[in-house]
Amino acid sequence: MLDAKAIKKDFPALNQQVHGKDLVYLDSAASAQKPQAVIDAIVEVYRKDYSNVHRGVHTLSERATRHFEAARETISRFIGAQDSREIIFVRGTTEAINLVAHSYGRHCIKKDDEIIISEMEHHSNIIPWQLLCEQTGAILRIIPVTNSGDLDETAFKKLCSSRTKLLAITHVSNAIGTINPIKALIAEAHRHNIPVLIDGAQGIMHQRVDVQDLDCDFYAFSGHKLYGPTGIGVLYGKTKWLEAMPPYQGGGEMINQVSFEKTTYANIPHKFEAGTPDIASVAGLSAACNYIQQVGFEAIHQHENALLHYATEALMTVPELRIIGNPTERAPLLSFTVEHIHAHDLGTILDHAGVAIRTGHHCAMPLMKRYGLAATARASLAIYNTQHDIDVLVEGLHKARGIFKR
Ligand SMILES: *Cc1c(COP(=O)(O)O)cnc(C)c1O
Repeated sequence: MLDAKAIKKDFPALNQQVHGKDLVYLDSAASAQKPQAVIDAIVEVYRKDYSNVHRGVHTLSERATRHFEAARETISRFIGAQDSREIIFVRGTTEAINLVAHSYGRHCIKKDDEIIISEMEHHSNIIPWQLLCEQTGAILRIIPVTNSGDLDETAFKKLCSSRTKLLAITHVSNAIGTINPIKALIAEAHRHNIPVLIDGAQGIMHQRVDVQDLDCDFYAFSGHKLYGPTGIGVLYGKTKWLEAMPPYQGGGEMINQVSFEKTTYANIPHKFEAGTPDIASVAGLSAACNYIQQVGFEAIHQHENALLHYATEALMTVPELRIIGNPTERAPLLSFTVEHIHAHDLGTILDHAGVAIRTGHHCAMPLMKRYGLAATARASLAIYNTQHDIDVLVEGLHKARGIFKR
């Protein structure tokens, strides 16, 4: 078991008061706080090792390049990639998915081809495919979600066909916490020769991801939900795809030879990394991976699961509170409504109690519609949360009910 109280001390932003109350941060699924080790890594780059990468022959540039590529190795090992060239640095999950939609889309998708997504996707894993379908005449197919919040796997199997050119599916639902059985989904898709993109934005921080074991073709995630910096994320792609796919953006860093007659592109990963990258954030992300590895996924899983269990029981003591979905496996986040109280009012009252939760549609409007809801309140748990945090949340919810008593 990890010591959440000790871990909390590693995160400076958590040691503050809001409205005169100790901060209780239950919004890590929107963005996680950063440990000092990540902050230090970023500062270190600017204080000592800063220069552009892959450019100069001078010492600072060589040092910056060495650190940058070492970070790529660290992140590659973190997700079990076969080769660090399969790690493409992007701004985040959104850009990673857009990269695949543009590049793989141009390479492989034509009229009447089909792309499968699900009803529980984040808008980031819906709209790029809608845009691609508009441009190409391809067709978007949707796996429905059951009442409990699981994917309808029978419906999924029926959707797979020789017309299907991609399955793009979330590892974990950011709105209700469902952990999808992605390994089985990938195996099923591969039986039909369908490549698979996993939106790992909510999956990467709660369990060890091994892209080779999963055998996914693409895996996308953001640094900022993984206790790392904003502005950086990763697209993992199998070499065979990345080598076959055309560049996404053009510019510096991504070329081999440029002339007005014919430009040739750099090898992967640089082919997909046009322009000066976010050098400091790459260092920060690498530090975040090291930090998590030190805590250990076994300990993280035990702690978060125990806390999820505790939170579920505690929330159920609040009258008229309804937890949305009851999936087979759930990541440590709970979406709920309280009768007669709008989610935003709950959010405001809780804020005054020092508790930060997320309210709204969670960028998953189709899933909200599926449940007939406009908004929910969502409490998401992370390595630094404690049972005390849950107690403060539940106390705040009781208080909110008192205020809104009719
Ligand atoms: C947050 C999130 C995204 C988008 O991530 P960005 O960091 O905003 O690009 C995509 N999918 C899921 C499931 C998410 O939770």
